[in-house]
Formats: sequence, structure tokens, C-alpha cells
Amino acid sequence: MLRTSYYAPLRPAVVGAGASGTLVAIHLLEAAVRQGTPLDLTLVDPDEETGRGLAYGSRDRRHLLNVPAGGMSCFPDDPHHFVRWLADRGTAATVTSFVPRSLYGDYLADTFKASVARAGTRLTLRRIHAHATDCSWTDGHARLGLSDGSSVTADHVVLATGSPSGDSSWAPAPLRTSPRFTAAPWTPGTLDHLRTLDGDVLLVGTGLTAMDIALSLARPGRVIHALSRHGRLPQPHAAPSLPPVAPEESWSDLPLRRLRAKVHAHIRQVTAAQGDWRPALDGLRPLTNSLWAALPEPDRAEFLRDSLSLWNTHRHRMAPETAQAVSRIRRSGRLSLLKGEILAAAPTPDALAITLDGARSLQVAAVVDCTGPALRLQDGQDPLLDGMLSSGLITRGPLGLGLACTAEGRLIPRNKPAGPLRSLWTLGPTRRGELWESTAIPEIRRQAAALAQSLMSRATASDPAR
Ligand SMILES: Cc1cc2nc3c(=O)[nH]c(=O)nc-3n(C[C@H](O)[C@H](O)[C@H](O)COP(=O)(O)OP(=O)(O)OC[C@H]3O[C@@H](n4cnc5c(N)ncnc54)[C@H](O)[C@@H]3O)c2cc1C
Repeated sequence: MLRTSYYAPLRPAVVGAGASGTLVAIHLLEAAVRQGTPLDLTLVDPDEETGRGLAYGSRDRRHLLNVPAGGMSCFPDDPHHFVRWLADRGTAATVTSFVPRSLYGDYLADTFKASVARAGTRLTLRRIHAHATDCSWTDGHARLGLSDGSSVTADHVVLATGSPSGDSSWAPAPLRTSPRFTAAPWTPGTLDHLRTLDGDVLLVGTGLTAMDIALSLARPGRVIHALSRHGRLPQPHAAPSLPPVAPEESWSDLPLRRLRAKVHAHIRQVTAAQGDWRPALDGLRPLTNSLWAALPEPDRAEFLRDSLSLWNTHRHRMAPETAQAVSRIRRSGRLSLLKGEILAAAPTPDALAITLDGARSLQVAAVVDCTGPALRLQDGQDPLLDGMLSSGLITRGPLGLGLACTAEGRLIPRNKPAGPLRSLWTLGPTRRGELWESTAIPEIRRQAAALAQSLMSRATASDPAR
């Protein structure tokens, strides 16, 4: 008698439907189709949309991706997928184009939809619009409690909850509590409100977020002040860009002091040969995870203390078009760059009076926190993560960055068991402590594909006749 093998459905729950959660879902769906495995997938996120998350929700077409289209495909082994998707929708783009971030949000949602359609009857999908508020684990099954009072049971849980939000703790209390203070500029609708205000605006932060917000808010007659302790702007991408150049020798197991010297020598050498430092830095990207992992903790702490802002401004660069637009508003006097910090703030009848160091002061209609996500998760930000940390299901990563996990992205509990770990996973910014370079799509899509494959390999074949 012919016997066919039968796969029990794989039953994962993904918490978070930003880019990371959506990419895992897409890769799970594609792997289920390839492998012929039934999939019972739950995707939990209060956001109405799937895929946008923090980064791809802005509808302002001046907010461009900071990675060229050729690096943003959902599929690491099909790098032109995003460029083809753009062409199919009438957007002329090449692998080197920097397109609006809103288009990337559309692309993630559309690719997810297409994968769902391909999975057909093999798939049971629950897209739940709620917060996951707690997670418990009994007899190999997880139970996720949800903010709408319901719950979900799953055999595998993926935390795709993104970076911890900033808490604006740098702001003096009278500023933090003022209605003229905006703590989260990417909250939908926030920029519309700021555009309609009369008066100048102070942006705290001079990174990529600050430059996007400056472009949205600049107009004749208004000065946007952008303030940071270092006063550095992100470097622009080169147009056209040159291919990455990897170092010629292996740098494994070097302490930070020697690694820094090697990096500087590599940059000098490549700049002398090519006239540009960027190929040297881009050539380090495939090595960053292993270099970071090999650094002792005190060296990683020293890097965060002394080199973070220099790293960020050179590694996370502006699209060339963004850099040109920023130069234009600086030349016209609509954007003023300030180095320093806020010492005090006081409300006046129609503005905020801001005192800066160096006996400088400003009168502004609004202050916007553009310092971006926090490096470390603070207690009290997310009941789910708070609960999982206090029950010991998960624990913080090295230096308190992200969450502790294995090289596969499997979350490590506070007390590591002698036996196998629970099927509890993470990807993206939560892996920063272990990997450092783990917040951009080129890394996240690779993690998503590998994670989906790891889960699929756990789908158990059984014989229905038995
Ligand atoms: C403004 C900005 C621009 C960027 N531009 C680029 C770029 O051009 N190219 C690039 O490669 N990278 C870019 N990045 C990096 C970016 O971090 C990643 O590309 C990616 O967006 C990270 O997605 P994520 O899903 O991990 O996190 P997020 O986008 O933060 O999404 C996390 C999701 O989890 C949900 N969530 C959190 N907690 C819970 C819970 N308890 N229950 C249910 N849901 C929960 C949230 O609602 C959210 O939707 C940018 C980042 C920012 C902030």
C-alpha cells in the first residue's frame, strides 16, 4: 500500500509586524510552499498595516531609503526583486537608486500578500491587531496574552519587536512635559501638526531622522535649528558609489586599540587608491558581526563610549539626493546646525525659551526629539518584554544591548537549561548586543530567511496511517 508522509502544521507566532516580523512571515510562507508544510501562522501587531513599522510609515516622498534599492530586496538570493517590483509599478529605478521609504513599506506589504496567496490552502493565517502583553510556556507550547483580552497558543514564538524607543530623558522636565515638545516624530500625523505651526523649530539630534524632519518642516521664513553634542551630520553616500573593498588580512581576535589602528590604516590605503573612504568602510560590513563578537566586553563598552557617533555618521549615510536637499536648506539659512546641549527650557505665552550651553538661547515654537531609538531597553516600555525578563524567559544581551541569543537568534533564558532551549527566537535590532550590525534590511532579511529555515526544519513529518 502506498503511504504518503504527512506534515503536522508548523505553528509559529510572530510578535511585531514591522520590517523584521513581516520578513520572517514572508520567509516562513515561502519555505512552507517549497517544503509542502502546512503553516498555522499568527502575526501580532497593533499597527493597522503590515510591514511599515517605525521606518517605513512616513508618507513624505522626500524621506528616502538610506540603502540603495539593490540592497533592499526581501530575498537575499534574489537581490533584484525590489527593483523589479518598482519597475512593475512604473517607478524607474536601478540597483543604485534611493527611493522613498513609503514605497518600501508598500513593497513589504505587497510581498507579504503575494506570499500569503501562494501558500493557498496550506496556510491558516491570523493577523491580530493587538499588543502581546505576556508570554508563558508550558509543556512545549507558548501562550501569548493579548491587549484585547484574548490569547494565542503557538509552538514557536518570534520576537520582532524592534529597537527600544527613546525616553527623552535628556530633556529638562519643563520641556518634556510641554505641549510644544514632540517625543516621537514618526508617530503618524505628527509632522502635519508641526508643519502648520508658526515659528522656528528646534530638532534635538543631527542624524538621519533629524535631516528628514528638517526637510519636511523647512519653509521660507522659518529656521530649523538642529542641535547635538557633536554637531555632526551623517555623511552622504557617493554618487555613483564604488564597490566595497575588504581588508587584505584577517583581523580576528584583535583588541579594540589594535583593531582601530587597522581600520584607520585600511581606510587610508583605500582612500589613497580610490579617492574615497566609503569602499573601505563598506568592505568591513561582512566582518562587523565577527569583529564585534570577538571584542571583550570592556572594549565594546569603550567603542560605544568613544566611537559611536563617528561610527553612526559614517556607517549610516544619507542618500545623495537627501544630502543635496539638506545642503540647499543650509545655504538658504533655513537649517542651522548647532553643537552643544540644552541646559534649561521655559514656556512663554507663545513659544518655548531654550537655554543652551555657552550662554546661547533660542525662542522656538516646537522642540522635536530626533535622537532616535534608545540603545538599551528600559523597564516599563513594553509589558511583554518586562514580563518575559522578570520571569527569566529572556535576558538582556551583552552590555544590556538587545536580548541574549544564540548565533541562530534563539533567545537564551536567564538560567540556561541543561537541555534544549525553548523555541523562542528573535531577529533585527534585538540582536544588536550579540552582532552589533543588525538593524538594516541587508542583515535582517538574511536573519529572517535563516530563522524560517530553522523553524521549518522543526516541522515534524508523521504518518497519518499511524
Ligand atoms: C526612520 C528610519 C529609517 C530607516 N531607514 C532604513 C533604510 O533605508 N534601510 C535600511 O536597511 N534600514 C533602515 N532603517 C533601519 C530599520 O530599523 C530597519 O530597517 C527595520 O525597520 C527594523 O524593523 P523592525 O520590525 O525590527 O522594528 P520596527 O519597525 O520598530 O517594528 C517593530 C514592530 O513591533 C511592534 N511591537 C512591538 N512590541 C510589540 C508587542 N508587545 N506586541 C505586538 N507588537 C509589538 C511595533 O508595533 C512595531 O510595528 C531605518 C530605521 C528608521 C528608524
